[in-house]
Parts: sequence; C-alpha cells; structure tokens
Amino acid sequence: MSITALSNGDPVDTAQRHSAIERVGITIAIDGPAGSGKSTVSKILASRLGIGYLDTGAMYRALTWYVLEEGLDPSDTDAVAQAAAHMDLRMDSHPENPHLWVGDVEVTDAIRQPRIALQIRHISTNLKVRSWMATEQRCRMMEARALGSGMIAEGRDITTVVCPDADVRVLLLADEEARLKRRTLELYGDVSPEHLEIVRAQVHDRDQADLTVAEFMKPAEGVDVVDSTGLGIEGVVAAVLALVDENLRGRLAQN
Ligand code: C5P
Repeated sequence: MSITALSNGDPVDTAQRHSAIERVGITIAIDGPAGSGKSTVSKILASRLGIGYLDTGAMYRALTWYVLEEGLDPSDTDAVAQAAAHMDLRMDSHPENPHLWVGDVEVTDAIRQPRIALQIRHISTNLKVRSWMATEQRCRMMEARALGSGMIAEGRDITTVVCPDADVRVLLLADEEARLKRRTLELYGDVSPEHLEIVRAQVHDRDQADLTVAEFMKPAEGVDVVDSTGLGIEGVVAAVLALVDENLRGRLAQN
C-alpha cells in the first residue's frame, strides 16, 4: 500500500487504514457522559481499525470490586490508593469480547453488578486513584501505538488528562433524553416511564459526582465534538473515521 493511497481527498478503505496504522500507530481518545454511546462506538471503531480497545470505566469498576472484596472502606483514600497499586489487573484489549481478571478471578460480569455502581463514586473521586489510573491507561495506549498498532480508549478524562496528545481526540455528546433512553434500554430492555425515572436519577447522580473531578461535558482545546443525538451509531462511527483519516493523512505526509 503506498503512502499516496492516503493523499488528501482520496477515498480511504479499511486495508489502507490498516496499512497506515502499521506505519505510524494511532491513539484515539473518546470522552463523554453516561449513555453517550462511547462504548458501542469505540468497540466498532477498534474492530474496523484493527486496534485495541480500552474501557477505562471497567478499570474503575474492577478496583471497586477489589476494594469490596478485600473488605476495605471505599472512602479510605489512602487504603484504596494502596489497593490500586497492589491489584493484579489483567485485561484483554479485544473489542469484540473484552475480559478482565483480578488475580485469578474473572470479573467481567461481576463489575457490572449494581453494588459496584453504588460505590464507584468513592473510587472515581479519589485523586490518588485517578493519578494511578492515568499512568496505567496512558502506558497501555502508548505501548500499543509504539508496536505499530494502536488503541482507542474511552472514558471521562482521556482527551484531557490520560492522553491529551492522542492522535484523535473526540468528545461524544448527546442530549439528555437521548442518553437516558439509550442507558434505560441497555439496563432494562425497554424505555417505560418508570424505568426512565430510575435511570434518570442514577445517571444524574453519577454524572454530578464525576464532574467534580473531570470535565467531560465541554471540549478541551483541540478536542472535536461529535453529537450523537440525531446521528445514530453508524453516523458517529463515520464522523470519527473522518477524523482518523485526516490525522493519518497528515502524519503520513510528514514521513
Ligand atoms: O463508563 P462506565 O459507566 O463503566 O464508568 C464507570 C464509572 O467509572 C464512571 O461513572 C466514572 O465514575 C468512572 N470513570 C472515571 N473516569 C474514566 C472512566 C470512568 O471516573 N476515565
């Protein structure tokens, strides 16, 4: 595949993108609030680009699971930060079926239990934990890029703290009702008024707690905003792919 295959204005196909990524690697940072569709979109993008997928929320969930398992007080900031440093967390970065283990225990399903969501704010608002997470997450992204592949990481602070120098940085937004409906459908399989109200309270509380430690409703400088409200999943994927192509073209032209 020649570099000119990615010259400005040419249509870009999957093979051309793979070849370009093999040459220069790529890091993609996606932030957004709950229900913005960032996990779905990030997994699809990782599959199409042939790169790794990093669900940073799953890392906060895994640490919450570990803290509860060890019988620690989730609000004890020092004890939780020490637990983070000792936690033997393994994740595969495969986008189709990502799995997680803490030590020998597979926690892929356990971290989605409501008891985790109820305690996670103690973990995610612990600044020592956030610093440890940022180092771990950045390391995984940069390693993948250096290996002639790449990683797409999604969360709340990837475009700003974890990887402000990512090749592509996107803030994924959606209006509140669209986000609520998406989350309710995910959790209950329907969007009945009763379920919508339960999820409204949960999402609102979690976003408010998260906003005290990371800004993910307004873009930082240089971050592209994609609003998924009327776009649908394929529309969002296409919008991010256009940014990926632009970035790859620019870097290949410099090589
Ligand atoms: O994305 P998910 O809902 O699985 O994230 C779970 C929680 O992890 C979030 O509500 C937030 O408290 C925390 N989180 C975070 N920073 C990230 C990713 C997730 O604080 N980068």
